[in-house]
Amino acid sequence: MSIKIALAGNPNSGKTTLFNHLTGSSQYVGNWPGVTVEKKEGRLHSFDNAVISDLPGIYSLSPYSLEEVVTRDYLLNGRPDVILNIVDASNLERNLYLTTQLMETGIPMVIALNMMDVVEKKGDHLDIETLSAYLGCPVIATSAVKGKGAGEAAKCALKQSKFRPPTPIKFSPALEEALSEIQSLALKYIKDQRLLRWYAIKLFERDKNVQNQLRLPEQIKAMIEHIIKICEAVMGDSSESIVIGERYAYIEKVVNKSLRKNPRHSSLTGKIDKIATNRFLAFPVFAAVIFTVYFISVSTVGTYLTDWTTDIFFGKWVSGAAKTILENTGAAQWLVNLITEGIIGGVGAVLGFVPQMALLFLLLSFLEDCGYMARVAFIMDRVFRSFGLSGKSFIPILVASGCGVPGIMASRTIEDENKRKMTIMVTTFIPCGAKLPLIALISGAVFPEGSWWVAPSIYFLGILMIFLSALILSKTRLFKGDATPFVIELPDYHLPSPKVLFLQAWKRIRAFIVKAGTVIFIASGVIWFLGNFSFNLDLSRENSILSHFGHILSPLFSPLGFGDWRAAVSAVAGLAAKENIVSTLNILLNAEDAGAEFAEAVSKVFNPVSGYSYAVFNILCAPCVAAIGAIHREMGSLKWTLIATGYQTLLAYSVSFVIYQIGRVVVLGATFNIFTFLAIAVALLILWLIIKPAENQTPAHIKRPAKNAS
Ligand code: GDP
Ligand code: MG
Repeated sequence: MSIKIALAGNPNSGKTTLFNHLTGSSQYVGNWPGVTVEKKEGRLHSFDNAVISDLPGIYSLSPYSLEEVVTRDYLLNGRPDVILNIVDASNLERNLYLTTQLMETGIPMVIALNMMDVVEKKGDHLDIETLSAYLGCPVIATSAVKGKGAGEAAKCALKQSKFRPPTPIKFSPALEEALSEIQSLALKYIKDQRLLRWYAIKLFERDKNVQNQLRLPEQIKAMIEHIIKICEAVMGDSSESIVIGERYAYIEKVVNKSLRKNPRHSSLTGKIDKIATNRFLAFPVFAAVIFTVYFISVSTVGTYLTDWTTDIFFGKWVSGAAKTILENTGAAQWLVNLITEGIIGGVGAVLGFVPQMALLFLLLSFLEDCGYMARVAFIMDRVFRSFGLSGKSFIPILVASGCGVPGIMASRTIEDENKRKMTIMVTTFIPCGAKLPLIALISGAVFPEGSWWVAPSIYFLGILMIFLSALILSKTRLFKGDATPFVIELPDYHLPSPKVLFLQAWKRIRAFIVKAGTVIFIASGVIWFLGNFSFNLDLSRENSILSHFGHILSPLFSPLGFGDWRAAVSAVAGLAAKENIVSTLNILLNAEDAGAEFAEAVSKVFNPVSGYSYAVFNILCAPCVAAIGAIHREMGSLKWTLIATGYQTLLAYSVSFVIYQIGRVVVLGATFNIFTFLAIAVALLILWLIIKPAENQTPAHIKRPAKNAS
């Protein structure tokens, strides 16, 4: 039997960093809550018989979010042999709140007092012996980023798994009396006797999950309710608040006894936050930061890198070398074409964007890791809330600007079920990395002069659609119900280590390159074949299999301005992977290279209005199959998956229709026709859906959860 060690702690306390150190793996390390959304397991380095799991970060064991449920279930039902509780020593009060609850699970525990480097830098003094005495378990000082104390903490946890669990904290007499009465009433219904006290406290807090799980008879429930009522009357507060209050009273005592703060330390974080979270400056600062990131990575430096990669590297070197080799070995002309035009052209058109994306991911990783993103979620809450979303919706959306799949998964941190579902539905409207090539292609090829505004405007349109959709959706019958409040912590700012940044950017880029090497590689070959051969397998572009298919599809898209069959086929190919849009276009347009000539060919298919409409349609419509799979996993139902993808595609169609039909008249000076009127009607309909009063507004009714009380 191996020993099971559970890593538990608040978000951002350094669990994943420690986990990576102990197991030698490199899980994603982030600096905001919710990056670890699933339990991850690994083997402890140099101890064959120990398994360690990295649990999602949580603030309490009350089930306010999916992650808290995951962690709580694992601790209670998975019964690990020992808990390694990571406590952020630079935020002792808040972190110990979870510790007091972990002490009640009846599982042996060791505390890794992490971020000790931060405490030392501030010049504070923490008395570890006192802390250990009060909490009834060993406490080991660690600095997970430097790996200091990690091994010692693991060894101590292995040893401690053989010893007794810590003694839970003792509450005031009135509460203790109520708890012991509840305990004796519920005794028979609790299978695991080690959890008696834990269940008693949860019943006292009127925890719905626990009430249902224990299946207490009505009569017992009534008696317990009576005990709670008496205690509430005696102590003059609601039961949940009583427990919270007592926990914090105990924590205050422990902290007072063990922490001596350096009075002269003035915090850099405080100074930066005076500006970064300032009422008036927060938004301009945020806008400037995001603009700078995209300006550098998409518009300027990134473009040079990408041009070089597509025109010179793939366009000349790679395809030139391949051609020479193949021709020298006497390969058939069609094979030469398949490889240079089909595969190198298609894959190269996608891989060309790697430098641009690497730069974008690197900059985003920096913002994440230095602590700024948590501020953004905090300042965003004011905005998101008024649209019916949560400040935490920002996190999935931001992650989705890299890739929709982790973005959709990151929605798990949102406590509120409605807001979580809504976030999943709208999150892929932000252009992901795979859609970047299309945006860059359209803005470069179709808008020869003054195209700097195209990429940012498409991003802003994506963001606008997120908010407008939230407004539309929150008024429908699909999303009614109460709101749960928002909690996010603001970690201290710090300079991220370059190693962590490169690792994170590399992980995101790697997924992209792997896709180019597999899905897109195969798709490029297949599409080249379908686009060059007829049903009789004759070499014929005009009569190709794909052109037949495309001609059936294209009428559907001609009201949006891209009735060209090659554009239509490429949009459909994008469902497998969005990078396919560009690679398919490249193949179908017979571009000799992925650079200047490709751009020339594209500019013949699209004018600025239809090109823009094409980009917008592909950005907003149903995402790639991988992301649809993620939506299905997170929604947990086929019905909701269909609602989500159906809504996305319908919205994409309507918006592109409006853009193209109205743009035709306004920008290209075409004449009014029936479609123009239809487009105006669709625009008005969307407007009405946005401003119409809600049908079923439930009265605003805000509950205060435990973790908000500090
Ligand atoms: P988790 O949310 O608990 O998994 O935390 P992570 O492992 O993702 O770490 C959150 C952030 O804290 C990252 O930016 C880490 O680099 C940083 N971090 C982790 N441990 C330490 C430490 O001991 N000292 C300092 N200064 N930073 C740390
Ligand atoms: Mg983590």
